Amino acid sequence: MPMASRRIRYSSCGLARTAIRLRRWLPAAAGVWLATAPAAVEAAQFRPRATVRVVATGGTIANHPDGRLTAHELTDLVPAAGRYADVETEQFANLPSSSLTVEHWLALARRLNRLFSARRDLDGVVLTSGTDTLEETAYFLHLTVKTDRSIVVVGAMRPPNAPGYDGAANLLDAVRVAAAPASRNRGVVVVVNGEIHAARDVRKAHAQRLDSFDSGRNGVLGVVDADRIEYYRRPTRRHTRRTEFDVARLDRLPRVVLLTSYVGASGDLIRAARDLGADGVVVAAAGAGATTPDQADAIDEVIADGIVVVITTRTGGGRVPARLRRVPPPAGTADPRGAGRRVSGESLSAVKARVLLMLALTRTRDGAEIQRMFTMY
Ligand code: ASP
Repeated sequence: MPMASRRIRYSSCGLARTAIRLRRWLPAAAGVWLATAPAAVEAAQFRPRATVRVVATGGTIANHPDGRLTAHELTDLVPAAGRYADVETEQFANLPSSSLTVEHWLALARRLNRLFSARRDLDGVVLTSGTDTLEETAYFLHLTVKTDRSIVVVGAMRPPNAPGYDGAANLLDAVRVAAAPASRNRGVVVVVNGEIHAARDVRKAHAQRLDSFDSGRNGVLGVVDADRIEYYRRPTRRHTRRTEFDVARLDRLPRVVLLTSYVGASGDLIRAARDLGADGVVVAAAGAGATTPDQADAIDEVIADGIVVVITTRTGGGRVPARLRRVPPPAGTADPRGAGRRVSGESLSAVKARVLLMLALTRTRDGAEIQRMFTMY
């Protein structure tokens, strides 16, 4: 406790006054020590002056009824972040996440790519987001930002004026994760409620609770504890610098719609998607890829018309195997147009399969190639 001993040593008082001062200062010194000790222990995890940029896009984390907080106002709520990094701020948008568009995503990916290539000194970015579509934004950036450095997406379930506002704690955790060298090469991660999730696995799994986010049965990548950050695993699929997707010159993405299977579902919406000009369709099918017979017919029809259909599971977990050939190929044709071209969404959720299919369609319309991408990312 250096602070306590220094103050006592320089005291010119007698024994009694020293005792009084000890009684006065020790609790305060202990308090200071308790507050700074975790940071000191954790310091071993950090380079000496990490630099982290907080890029704000809006969401409940900023949604004060007197007006949405800016990136700067948000970071003012967490002065303790300065113990872990030099924190910069940037306002990208200030919107509910349900108002973000694919055009916002493209601009955001381009912005982050420019930032990382221009700023060699930057250790990581913290992106604030509304929680409703956060997992989609995180996965899009996971596939399109070309860096090994940290990108941490963070949100909050309660607004800044609510008792128990979780935004400040989550933002502090996010800065700590972004500043930690251990976060490099893990792709985009999501930090909420003391947990670190992989962008590919994370989902908002509850509409209201503070612990709304999980990674299904794959589990968290790590945790943010009071004394240090602990990682348990790394994402195994390719991401960030190791993807083939380049959005630098794109101002739009192919149109992909998402439909669901349920008892009695007709195939008319799948045909309507084709008629409305969709480039791809993702189906959140039952179980490991089941659709109604009419949906199955509609899928074969639209595939024959050149639309890529990806089958995912609406169950919330597990894989759809890539063996969904309903119609056997006619004799002598190895890969007839239509049959056998349904793409398995593997273990991606339907909303994330849509993200990957939009990007895949910027490269190819070939079902086999797109299946390769779904197995790889
Ligand atoms: N409506 C908010 C949003 O997604 C919800 C949140 O941030 O929690 O922007």
